[in-house]
Amino acid sequence: MSHEDHDGAQDCCAVDRRGLLTVSAFAALAATGMSAPAGAQVLTAEIRETLTPEQIIALILKGNARFTSGTQRPRDWLAEQRETAAGQHPAAVFLSCVDSRAPVEVVCDIGIGQAFNARVAGNAVNDDILGSMEFATAAAGAKVVMVMGHSACGAIKGAIDDVRLGNLTLLLARFKNAIEETKFEGDRTSKNPAFVDAVAHTNVRKSIQSIRDRSPVLRDLEQNKKIAIVGSFYDLESGRVALV
Ligand SMILES: [Zn+2]
Repeated sequence: MSHEDHDGAQDCCAVDRRGLLTVSAFAALAATGMSAPAGAQVLTAEIRETLTPEQIIALILKGNARFTSGTQRPRDWLAEQRETAAGQHPAAVFLSCVDSRAPVEVVCDIGIGQAFNARVAGNAVNDDILGSMEFATAAAGAKVVMVMGHSACGAIKGAIDDVRLGNLTLLLARFKNAIEETKFEGDRTSKNPAFVDAVAHTNVRKSIQSIRDRSPVLRDLEQNKKIAIVGSFYDLESGRVALV
């Protein structure tokens, strides 16, 4: 086992509250594309089976640490494409923003076939997104639902400014409650980055709650410990992803 693999295992130990990390899980971590050093090591159903939701979350954060330190895995994209063409076994489903600066797969160093990613301005929850998440987990076996907001989000700024434009008007209206519920002393305008980011954090938390409230399928999977539903926040300045 390489030094890098040891690092990955330690990260996962830190989040495994039950202390049940096994030898097979160590081997699986070493073999997954999310932590392996090189090559087209595709995430198989067998490997995914050995990973807990907490370990998958740790692998996502580990991938982001590689991104911020410039130590992303060298990838053979064509090999990954070929080896996943006949089937996929993604470990997670993301709900993230359309912002061109916040591509989850890039900033978390995730390969082809390893994660679903639903993108919509302001990472807003709607019925189609919920259906996609239900497919990703209950049907396709992903074990983590991660909502990822980000700093300086244009959708949040637009909602604060009450922008009205075609179909965007209805989309931005989804963030009104998050704006109202954000406790913040000081300048509550889109010109204040701290306020914009505070609303974006509230929006992530509300999205998590909305997923639980509106999807009995996902709620039951979470209650039965089959999946974890978590929020995260990507900082455009630092490149870091932090759990919310
Ligand atoms: Zn955004």
